[in-house]
This record gives sequence, structure tokens and C-alpha cells, in this order.
Amino acid sequence: MTKDSESKESKNSKPGITIKKDDNFSEWYNQVILEQGAQLCDLRYGVQGFVVYRPWGYKLIKKLYDLLEEALENDNHEPFLFPVVIPEENLKKEEEHAGFTPEVFWVTEAGNQKIEKKLALRPTGETQLYPMYSLWIRSHKDLPFKKYQSRIMCYRNDMATRPFIRGREFCFFESHDVFQSHQDALSQIKTDMHIMDDVVWKKLFVPFTFFQRPKWDKFLGANDTYASDTLLPDGKRLQISSTHDLGQNFAKVFNVTFIDEDSKTKYGYQTCFGPGIIRIIAGIIAIHGDDKGLILPSSITPVEAVIVPIFFTDKKEENKKIDAYCKELQKKVSKAVYDDALDETPGFKYNKWELKGVPLRLEIGPKEVQEKTVTIARRADRKKITVKQAELSHAIQEQLKENDLAIQKKAEEYFKNNTKETKEFSDLKKMLAKHKGFIKVPWCSTEMDGKDCAEKLKAETQGATVCGEPYNQKEKASGKCIICQKTAKHLVYIAKTY
Ligand SMILES: [Zn+2]
Repeated sequence: MTKDSESKESKNSKPGITIKKDDNFSEWYNQVILEQGAQLCDLRYGVQGFVVYRPWGYKLIKKLYDLLEEALENDNHEPFLFPVVIPEENLKKEEEHAGFTPEVFWVTEAGNQKIEKKLALRPTGETQLYPMYSLWIRSHKDLPFKKYQSRIMCYRNDMATRPFIRGREFCFFESHDVFQSHQDALSQIKTDMHIMDDVVWKKLFVPFTFFQRPKWDKFLGANDTYASDTLLPDGKRLQISSTHDLGQNFAKVFNVTFIDEDSKTKYGYQTCFGPGIIRIIAGIIAIHGDDKGLILPSSITPVEAVIVPIFFTDKKEENKKIDAYCKELQKKVSKAVYDDALDETPGFKYNKWELKGVPLRLEIGPKEVQEKTVTIARRADRKKITVKQAELSHAIQEQLKENDLAIQKKAEEYFKNNTKETKEFSDLKKMLAKHKGFIKVPWCSTEMDGKDCAEKLKAETQGATVCGEPYNQKEKASGKCIICQKTAKHLVYIAKTY
């Protein structure tokens, strides 16, 4: 029997997730997002690295876009929308940025004709936006120039596919800003960090550390890259945003200039910020989820509460009363679903909505109808309370808050004590095998001359990399580089990486 026909069998026998998160995170993750779990996406489209997002998954993505757009617009950014293709000559104009070329998908034919100047499918926006910026920006009065594009796809030929983590096509969001001074650009990097804090930590409870990347790991064409890393339960770090300090590098290549107050023509200072849409979702799935499925914060869940009637097969009159009562309740709760299917048991419905991570379940049986009450069960900490029907709207808000608090507390607990420290390479190797998180080590240099040590580290530890120094709490280094034994200038964080 194929997997498909199995899943369409007797509705009440579907097992849901069969693997425990702590036993095998990787397999648990696949089960949660695919057919037998919350059905966020489907990998059977037939082109490797191209994922189909199903309604529950796409609703999460849309909501995340909403939250980020709101945050960017509050920071005076305006939206625009560019084509998906970039002329080859523009993509390769900035010498270092041209390093993207091996990852690019090309459009070379249209109809029966070869395209004379081949077109790249956008791997990222810089080289498509800035030629237009050079036409639009004229004067210092046009600055700061803050725009973003959202709800677009980008393409890179990445064969290491993992849904919501890596793919050849991925949901993209990018803001691209131009400033009068480098100081203004650097201050935008802090603002971007605060936006991550406000949206991704305070609303979605995905914890992260904000790093300044070492030079060998910066964005191609940037002066510096600042990025936030979360940790997935297998201990690997996952980059969930980056802001690049582009200096005047692209401005000089694409002629992004302005006439300053002193009437001189100057190049703008640029930054670009990219929160990783699907990776933030991966953080929500992986960090908050449990053996029963997803656990969603109230700010992103498509449904706040599901109403589940406790029907009895032999009590038709009673069932009618329950049904009427549930319908009445549904009117009082704006984002509630009433699951009135007759061919599924209450237990099956509980599992189904727990898999999807819906924050609250309202259980309605004969007792609730008779006493005019509602029993509310929270998804995150599985606690239950019974409230009077008249207090329902208020109680829903309270219980959503409680559910969020439980998620946040768990995430906080999960992310604290995530950093160990050592000065010995032999020690580091042992720790990397066991410790799920960052390890702080003395390092010779985060400039390009430290790259050899990073390569040695990666080769001898099955993939550990240098995250960089934490942006807000750089510490003074002492002693010797853990790899080359030269005097250490930095205390860097190391972790295994996605
Ligand atoms: Zn070194």
C-alpha cells in the first residue's frame, strides 16, 4: 500500500507524529511539517529544492510578512516590487558580488529564440535595485532613502535542501536603504536589530544572538555583515537574519549619488536587511513544537481557538443542544473554528488541532451546555480552566496571553546557558560532540587572515564554524588562538551550522 492510500484510510486511525523530538529531532521535524503532521508543505512537486507551501504553512508565512512589513513601515520604509530577472551585466558589475554567479539560475531562451543577453533569476536584490536607485536619488533631500520588497521568491542553486531551512527557491524579504553618512548607515543596523527583537523575539519568541560576522563570512560585496543566529534543538545554529553594511561599494559601481548640502556630488552609504522568512518559521516549528506537533504564538497562528463539541452517538437531542451552544460561542470569538465533523471522535479532533499548534481548544459537552460554561485547554502547557460563557471573550484574551507566556518561558529556558567556553582545541572537539550551542574561544583574527584557522576548524570538527563576536557584548580576548596559537585578538563564538 502506498503512503497516500494509507493516509486516506479510516479517518480516526491516523497516528500523527510517531517520533519523539528528543529522540530524533531531524525525523520529528520532517513528520511535523509534512503529510502526517501539520501539513505545512509538500516535497512531492518533483523538482529538488522547490517546495509547495500548503494552506497552513502559507498562512504562517503570510502572517510573518504582515508583521515585518508593519515593523518596516513604522521605521519609514516604503514598499516596491521589482521583476524576478536581472540582466547578467548588472549581476556581475560589482566584482566581489559576482561571486554569486555559480549559484545562479539563468533564463536563456524565450519561446523558440535564444535570449541574447541572458537573464538571472534574482538570487538577491542589490544588483536589480541599485541601477534604479541611481535614477531616483538626486539630492540629500531624498535621503534617507528607505524601501523594501516583500512576498517575493529568490533563487540559488543550493542542492542541500531542507524545508524551511534551505532550498533552491525561498520566500524573501529585503529592505535596501541609502544614507548621507556612514554613521547613519551604522545606526540603521541597530534599528534592524531592534526590529528583529520586536518581531522575532517579542512576538514569535524565537531566541537569537546578534553577531558581527568574521570577514570571510560576510555578504559578497559588503564591508561587514551583522546576523542573528538561533539554535535548533540538534544544537546547530541557524542564521535567521542579516544586515549588511555595504559602505559605498555598490554606490560606486551603480552610481548611486546625491548632491549634498555643500553642492558636491557624493556616493550614498547603503545597508540592506534580510530577515529569513522561512527560517524564522523553521525556528517556530523546531523550538516551540513538542511531541504532539506545532505550538504557535498568538501573533502568527491562523486560528486562535478551536471549538470541539463532545457529541455522543446515542444522544441526538443532547447533541443538538451542544451544536447550538457551540455555534453561539463561535460568534463571540473572532478567530475561532468550530470543528463540527460528525465522523471524527473528539480525541481525534484534539490530536488534529494539537498537530497544527492552535493555541486554545474549547471543549463543549453536556456539562458546559447545562452550566453555561466553556472549558478552555491551552496548547503550550496543556493546562485547562473552565469559565462562564459571559466571560468568554475576555477569557480567550487572557488564555492566549498565558499560552504565549508558556511558549516564551520555555524558549527562554531553552536558550539560556547555551554558551560554553574553552581555550583548548582538544577540549573544543569533545565539547562540540556533546554541547548543543555556542562555544566561546580565543581567536587570532576576524579579518581575512583568520580564514585559514576557520577552515582548519571546519575540517577537523565536521563542520563547526565561527559565528563571530556578539554585536552588543564583545569581550576582551586573552591568551592564544585556539587553532594557530598566535595572540588572540577576539573572543568568538563557534557552533555547528546549517
Ligand atoms: Zn588562528
